[in-house]
Formats: sequence, C-alpha cells, structure tokens
Amino acid sequence: MTVTAAQVKTIQILWTRVCKDRGWKSSDKPFRLTQFSEIVGRPLTSTTEVGRIDECTKLMKTLKAMLGVDVKAARESDDLTINQARVLRNQILTELVPCLELYIGDVAGYMAAIMEDKNRWWKIDRPTRGMTLMDLDAKPTFRMDRRTGQTVEMPSQLSQMQFTLAARLNTLRKEAGDTVHDMRTKARLNCTCAVCRGIRNALSAADPELETSAAADPELGLPVCVENDTPF
Ligand SMILES: [Zn+2]
Repeated sequence: MTVTAAQVKTIQILWTRVCKDRGWKSSDKPFRLTQFSEIVGRPLTSTTEVGRIDECTKLMKTLKAMLGVDVKAARESDDLTINQARVLRNQILTELVPCLELYIGDVAGYMAAIMEDKNRWWKIDRPTRGMTLMDLDAKPTFRMDRRTGQTVEMPSQLSQMQFTLAARLNTLRKEAGDTVHDMRTKARLNCTCAVCRGIRNALSAADPELETSAAADPELGLPVCVENDTPF
C-alpha cells in the first residue's frame, strides 16, 4: 500500500519547509526524488510510490530531523494556530451563524455541506459522520500551482470557511432586502453601523452619566471593529 493523499500533503509541506530552510528549489522534482530515494533506500519516480507505513514514517522523521525542528518553537506556533482557530470559530458561531439563521432553516447542515465540499479528500478519511467546525483548523493550507509547479500557501480551512460564509450571507441578506442594520438587529447582535455608532456617540456626548453606563455595559462598550460597508 502506498501513501494516502493526506500523507503526500504532509510530506509536501515538510519538504517545502526544508527547501525554504536550506535555500533549495522546492519545484525541482528530480532533485526532490533523488533526496527521497536516498532516504527510503530505493529509487522512486514519484512521491506517491512511498510505502504507506514504514517508508512514510522514515521519510517524515528524516524531513523533520533535516528541519531540526525546535520543539519549543513548534509548540508555540501550534499554540498560535490553536488560538487563531478559537477566535475564528467564535466569530463564525457568534456573528455569522445568528445572521444565517434568519435566512436558512438548517444552518448546521448548510455549513456541513460547504465543509465537505471544500475538503472532499478529507471527508474520504471519515465517511461516517458529518463535518463540524471542530474538524477545521487555522493552519495555512498548501496547494500546488499546476502552471509553475510551486507550492503556494493558502488561507487556513477556518479562514476560507469564514470568508465563504460571509460572502454567502451577504448574498442572502441582499436577496431578502435587508440592510446590515436590519440583519444585525433581527439577529439581536450589537450593531456597529454608522447610524448606530452616531446615536451612541450623541447619547454619550449629551449625558455624562450615560457615558459611564455605556462604558460599564460590556455590549455598548465593545470596540467598534466592523466598518459599515463590510458584508456582515
Ligand atoms: Zn445599525
């Protein structure tokens, strides 16, 4: 049995890092195959020929050793993506889902269908249950550019999901004839549109007591981070 698509992807990511680290050209296929053949101890004409268990383990271990992976640095970068994943999941669940629920009956099913479509190769490994946001991570993804043969870094699964949901929501909102303000108000979300910000500023400017209470209210006191013209 030879390597799975997921294993090939991991090997590709490791090899790209090794090349970057050593100043090698990651698009140089013959060079890569020479290196891989040496590691597994037999001639390879493609990475997909690597054996699924022993050869794959040996190859990955060697590539990691070549990287001289700093365990502490690796853990810190993992922590960083775990934290990013938490922030993205939270934004999707607390900002996008309540709005999607205004326009779609089964939001969980709707999201699962998008995830499965975007990650079909992944779904093949776990055919027994539907995907959830917990199956997606915030690590950068990699794709091979067919034209140049270079590995291109792409946004993470969760970033892509957030972007897709925001774009779909924008279309659904327009079809329903809602403004951003209408949508956020109906979804009972704190609205940060220009009008609401204007009212809030005017109120707090007029009455010093209101200003204190606005600052004390965690909802009113939230920093304004969404501009009026964003899609959600
Ligand atoms: Zn508003």
